[in-house]
Amino acid sequence: MTEIVPLTQLPATRSKTLDLIGNTPLVLLAGPSEAAGCEIYGKCEFANPGASVKDRAALYIVRDAEQRGALKPGGTIVEGTAGNTGIGMALVANALGYKTVIVMPDNQSTEKMDTLRALGAELVLVPPTKFADPCHFVHTSRRLAEETQGAVWANQFDNTANRKAHIETTAPEIWEQLEGRVDGFTCAAGTGGTIAGVGMALKERDENIRIALTDPHGAALYSYYATGELKSEGSSVAEGIGQGRITANLEGAPIDTQFRISDEVGLEWVARLLREEGLCLGLSSGINVAGAVALGRELVAEGRRDARVATILCDTGFRYLSSLYNAEWLKGKGLPVFDWLKA
Ligand code: PMP
Repeated sequence: MTEIVPLTQLPATRSKTLDLIGNTPLVLLAGPSEAAGCEIYGKCEFANPGASVKDRAALYIVRDAEQRGALKPGGTIVEGTAGNTGIGMALVANALGYKTVIVMPDNQSTEKMDTLRALGAELVLVPPTKFADPCHFVHTSRRLAEETQGAVWANQFDNTANRKAHIETTAPEIWEQLEGRVDGFTCAAGTGGTIAGVGMALKERDENIRIALTDPHGAALYSYYATGELKSEGSSVAEGIGQGRITANLEGAPIDTQFRISDEVGLEWVARLLREEGLCLGLSSGINVAGAVALGRELVAEGRRDARVATILCDTGFRYLSSLYNAEWLKGKGLPVFDWLKA
């Protein structure tokens, strides 16, 4: 993979809106800190222009494709995504004069689909299938890219420009925001770009920082890091996380420990963060916070009472009003309904 030229050295674009990606706040979370007995911090990725952590990867993937000469002025970016990468990609593409074709499984939130259409992306919906199925959104997006004149396939799962975004931006931001005193970091993996990139770059600064993978049910990584075997159990309604293979972005990720978190526990944190701290988040954020509490407790049990653990608040809950924040939907999935949503 060719090196990415720092953004500051690339030719100026018409506007500076892409500079709004990254440099998100890091907040101390009171409830999780109390529960863990140490400091738990959340990186506010919902504050990116596309309201998710994936804006960073989208920008790096596009800049890398330009750098390699694969993406020409006016070209098309094709990507398969649970939605957030597509939203980030559409915004970046609009700012730089490219077109986007987004392939997405049709069981993802309607808010994401509506957002993609509103941003001007061409949306292709496919059935939610296993990775081995040729109709899977990743394979469909690759085929469409091959068939489209002047198109590049973003390939977020196996394009390491994705994790480079976290090596060069997310991790240094967390390090600076915590003034170089970080004891643990954890998050769940979709592509694995965030956990691998942040993990690698934090370890480079201090090898004693504990990096934990927080896995939802239905994913195979918890078992992989615990036993070496890719094996999944159960299922999850969390969107954007839950990986069944070692993607190129996950290769070499420095994972020290792992937690498996249920949707129920993740939802409890989504509810508490909303009601007690005024943060409206998606389920992957709740699962990440549950993992951060588990990691914090582990460090405290080892006598590190002043530990500081950081995690990712991946996207806004406004993206899930018709699902996570809808009583009928929750009931239909057999999940507990938030008290204040009960009629
Ligand atoms: N949470 C949400 C809501 C996401 O959309 C994603 C990206 N698929 C992630 C978490 C995981 O990020 P990554 O792809 O860097 O592993």
